[in-house]
Amino acid sequence: MHDFSSYIGIIGGGISGLALGCTLRKYGIKTVIFEKEPNLHNEGAGISISPNGLIALEYLDLKNELEKNSYKSSRAILKYNNSPLLEMDSQVYTMNRRNLISVLYKKYIDLGGEILFDYELKDIDIEKKECLFTNSSSYKIKHVIASDGIKSLIREKFFSGGSKPIYSGYSAWRGFTRSENPNVEISFSSNKHLVSYPINSDLKRSFTGIIKSNEQVTESWREQGNLETFIKQFEETNHQIAKVFESAEDIFKWGIFVRPPLKNIIKKNITLIGDAAHPMVPFLGQGACIAIEDAYTFGYLCHELKCEFDNVQKMYQLLRIKRNNKIQKMSLNQGKLNHLKNPLLVFLRNQLMKKTDIVSKRLKNIHNYDVHQETIKSLTN
Ligand SMILES: Cc1cc2nc3c(=O)[nH]c(=O)nc-3n(C[C@H](O)[C@H](O)[C@H](O)COP(=O)(O)OP(=O)(O)OC[C@H]3O[C@@H](n4cnc5c(N)ncnc54)[C@H](O)[C@@H]3O)c2cc1C
Repeated sequence: MHDFSSYIGIIGGGISGLALGCTLRKYGIKTVIFEKEPNLHNEGAGISISPNGLIALEYLDLKNELEKNSYKSSRAILKYNNSPLLEMDSQVYTMNRRNLISVLYKKYIDLGGEILFDYELKDIDIEKKECLFTNSSSYKIKHVIASDGIKSLIREKFFSGGSKPIYSGYSAWRGFTRSENPNVEISFSSNKHLVSYPINSDLKRSFTGIIKSNEQVTESWREQGNLETFIKQFEETNHQIAKVFESAEDIFKWGIFVRPPLKNIIKKNITLIGDAAHPMVPFLGQGACIAIEDAYTFGYLCHELKCEFDNVQKMYQLLRIKRNNKIQKMSLNQGKLNHLKNPLLVFLRNQLMKKTDIVSKRLKNIHNYDVHQETIKSLTN
């Protein structure tokens, strides 16, 4: 048994775990991250960070690093069956997920954080505050953070009451190619949508295509897909797709599963953050941003409330659960909107997008959240 009883133990060194590690270390709080993979776990996929995620990173002094490692399109273009519907200013930084993880990792290590790779959590003895790992080691720690992602073992074991993930009917493709197009593009067609953006100044471009079908696809980030099938499925959505994908690297396919929102994200000495707390469908590109918000809030509360975890947890749950569940629900609804089939409804949606400011209003509602100010407000109320 390793005695780390003065440390906060973070299970999972992904986006939320590392962001929390940085926040806690910024305030000199002792942390150790346990990561199941043998090294930095970072699937090569595109990710967009919107202003609400960016502001949290800015409070962690990471804005410059993020800017250096990402691309900022000036325009976002929405299309239907290949014809423009709407053009607006783009607010997001887009990058390879790998770069985001590396930026967070480097900062965490620079701040004196500890991370142990090849440590896969097997169980927690809540009463004794002990974490047990598949490599047979065990650690006594002060507080456990579950940042173990969408398939969180900790959520399943201690929080979800045995509810199982349900196939959403959506399956997704992801891949990279190269293109001269500098814009963010979101293209709809009947029952499908395709999101693409550059991830660096060489205009390497990330594509995510979502289709609704009854064929159930495995929930895995590593399952190789067939490029020809992908191109065929999205030709109507983007007439150039075959040409754009001439220079493509591998393409992957995975199933999107839904998990019901939780009523509690705290229990005894365990706190859930990130996808473990609020697994969401990816249709608003908010999972990582909300995960970073969670991490910042929890870390800042630990600092302000001097690691009195009862108070920290109560305040954290109060602040986060409403916002998280709201974004989780909005993401699901966005999927329905993106995948309309009925021609009349499609027409009405497209007219609304073209003739009103509904899209930018909806986005502002999410993007204008300043996690630092909101946390301070809650402490002074
Ligand atoms: C197609 C798609 C596109 C997306 N695009 C965006 C986007 O553009 N913008 C955005 O904000 N979000 C996006 N997201 C969501 C985003 O990727 C996630 O919300 C985010 O990664 C959540 O961070 P996390 O730290 O909770 O989980 P993760 O980053 O997945 O990290 C979990 C970590 O825990 C580790 N782990 C798991 N189990 C154990 C264990 N038992 N013991 C130890 N370690 C363990 C894993 O190895 C991993 O390193 C997208 C998601 C998908 C599927």
